[in-house]
Amino acid sequence: MKGFGSKDLQGKIAQPIAFNVTGWNRDHFVSSLDEIESRIERLIENIRGSHPDWLCRRGCDSCCRRLAELPIITRAEWLRLKAGLLTLSAELRQRILTDIGSLAGATMPVMCPMLDADEGACRIYPYRPLACRSYGYYMQKGIGLHCQQIEQKVASGLLDQVVWGNQDALDRDLRVEGEPRSLAVWIDDPLDGMHGGYAIADKSI
Ligand code: SF4
Ligand code: SF4
Repeated sequence: MKGFGSKDLQGKIAQPIAFNVTGWNRDHFVSSLDEIESRIERLIENIRGSHPDWLCRRGCDSCCRRLAELPIITRAEWLRLKAGLLTLSAELRQRILTDIGSLAGATMPVMCPMLDADEGACRIYPYRPLACRSYGYYMQKGIGLHCQQIEQKVASGLLDQVVWGNQDALDRDLRVEGEPRSLAVWIDDPLDGMHGGYAIADKSI
C-alpha cells in the first residue's frame, strides 16, 4: 500500500546522508526537495544497477491503484504537484480535482486520482510526490515499503543483497518543510490551493 502500509521484512538500510537546514523560505523548500529527490534517485540507480530486472516500471500500477488513502504531502510537494496538474487540460484537471474531493477521508483501497488507469501510468509523473518515488525501494522501521510482487522476491531470498533506502531519514528531512497534509486539504488551501493566490512560477519545474 503505497506510502502508508507494508509488510514486515528484514533487510539492509542505507545510512542517511547529512542534510543541514539553515533557513525556511520558498527557495529553501525547493532545494530541500531537490536534494531529497537526488538522494532517492541515486539509491534507485544503485539498486537497479545490480538488479536490472527490478519490477517497478511504467505500466506496473498496482501500488497506485491501492493507496491506503489520498497522498499526504508537504507544501513543496504540493506546489510541484499543482504545477503538474496545470499542465493537463482543463477538463482532465477538473475531473481529477472532483475525484480528489470525493475521495477526501476515504480509506483503503483508494485508486490515485492522478493515475491514468488505461495506460497504467501517472499523469503527472515528473511532479509526483516523494513517497511515489521511494516506494518499492525503501524501508521504514524495518518494514519494506513495497508491493506483494517485490515482497515475494524478498521472501525467496532473491533480494538479499539489496541495500534499501531509509524512509525514516527521508521523512525526518521532509519535516523541515512543515507538516504534510492530505491532497484534499491542499487543493482547497486559501493561498496555495487550486483557486488560491499563489503564482505557480516555480523555477525548479
Ligand atoms: S511497487 Fe510493485 S506495483 Fe508498484 S511499481 Fe513497483 S513493482 Fe509495480
Ligand atoms: S501520484 Fe502518480 S505515482 Fe503517485 S500514486 Fe498517484 S498515480 Fe501513482
